[in-house]
Amino acid sequence: MATNQSAPYKVYLEENEIPKQWYNVRADMKNKPAPLLNPATLKPMTVDDLSAVFCKELAEQELNNDDAYIPIPEEIYNFYKMYRPSPLVHAEFLEKALDTPAHIYYKFEGNNTSGSHKLNSAIAQAYYAKKQGLKGVTTETGAGQWGTALSMACSFFDLDCKVYMVKVSYEQKPFRREVMRTYGASVTPSPSDTTEIGRKILQEHPGTTGSLGCAISEAVEVAVGTEGYRYVLGSVLNQVLLHQSIIGLETKAALDKLGVKPDVIIGCAGGGSNLGGLISPFVGEKLRGEADYDIIAVEPASCPSLTRGKFVYDFCDTGMVTPIAKMYTLGHDFIPSANHAGGLRYHGMSPVLSQLYADGLMRAVSVEQTAVFEAAELFARTEGTLPAPESSHAIRAAIDEALKCKETGEEKTIVFGLTGTGYFDMVAYEKYNNGEMSDYIPTDADLEKGFSSIPDFGI
Ligand SMILES: *Cc1c(COP(=O)(O)O)cnc(C)c1O
Repeated sequence: MATNQSAPYKVYLEENEIPKQWYNVRADMKNKPAPLLNPATLKPMTVDDLSAVFCKELAEQELNNDDAYIPIPEEIYNFYKMYRPSPLVHAEFLEKALDTPAHIYYKFEGNNTSGSHKLNSAIAQAYYAKKQGLKGVTTETGAGQWGTALSMACSFFDLDCKVYMVKVSYEQKPFRREVMRTYGASVTPSPSDTTEIGRKILQEHPGTTGSLGCAISEAVEVAVGTEGYRYVLGSVLNQVLLHQSIIGLETKAALDKLGVKPDVIIGCAGGGSNLGGLISPFVGEKLRGEADYDIIAVEPASCPSLTRGKFVYDFCDTGMVTPIAKMYTLGHDFIPSANHAGGLRYHGMSPVLSQLYADGLMRAVSVEQTAVFEAAELFARTEGTLPAPESSHAIRAAIDEALKCKETGEEKTIVFGLTGTGYFDMVAYEKYNNGEMSDYIPTDADLEKGFSSIPDFGI
């Protein structure tokens, strides 16, 4: 494929080349993602239904399957200017270490204080909350990146921010917690005794280290029960993928500048927002029959929603307070093994990505965490940046693809999303460095337990 041997190491777009609109891939999908349903009536959620939980304008974006482009409001654009455009990097040192004929590029989203791509959607969600005259927002955070991003966004627009943080991360990552508090957020370990659902989960699973699904239930309960508050979510939702499309639009613009067309596009998949954002414009071309790409979602073997989950309607949270979504799911009760250190712990997957996967527009692989940290270490030592464990799933798959090229002699161009930095994940790195990290692949019987929590909605 066409590559530019004399490509610069880093490609920055100009400030005025930051995209002025988000791209909504749903507009180009023949099979639209299945609608969110009210679990009681099984009727599709309307903007009015969703507006009880989300800001009005975000509820509209959630249901908008028609507009291919949605303008980025000036206030959001101005915030983007502080840390965007993000660099597209030609990983020439990694290529050399692998001795591969492949060309590897990565889009680096970790160059802001929150350390990940999540700020792209956090600032949009905070803006619409402010515009609606709200007092504040509630949310959950797993590894902590989303909570950090939202804290930054809320402080910028002077909104209150209540974060429910998965207990295991709260304990393992005290410094993330303090970053959030520095930006003015309040942080509660989940499950907590501050909500009805939290108390119930604590009673049923004493000593639980928590899960994202459980923290979501708590945050939704508080948002719905507090005047002037709404709930915001950092992944999974259509609106979040829309905001994250800025990653893919910039990537495509930078590659176009270089005259490079990628063969393989790789991203890690937790709830699917970075991958969805990265691939959106490329999938759009695929859907319109203009180009073809090999798109790979990478997930942990210990939380294999796409590769081993079921494509059915399920709750987005453990407490069953959210609408139901049709997605690849391990069951809303699924909690990954406690030895899993690398993030990407969510039981479900973005309905957009789920549909694209079901339609054969992308494929998925799962990787084990020791192999992920091996890749992280090699990447840190060659390219300099200490990657987030989540991002390192994509690095692993990119390395594997590049090594395949070494065998076949193919000069493929591989692009992957480097979603963030790992400075707050040193407990996980410590385990790896001490040789104490192990892999756990759930057995079919383990997965059956999670599947049995999926209600039969008769649809
Ligand atoms: C949250 C996060 C992810 C996974 O979330 P997606 O919604 O699947 O993108 C990946 N990498 C980093 C650094 C994150 O913070």
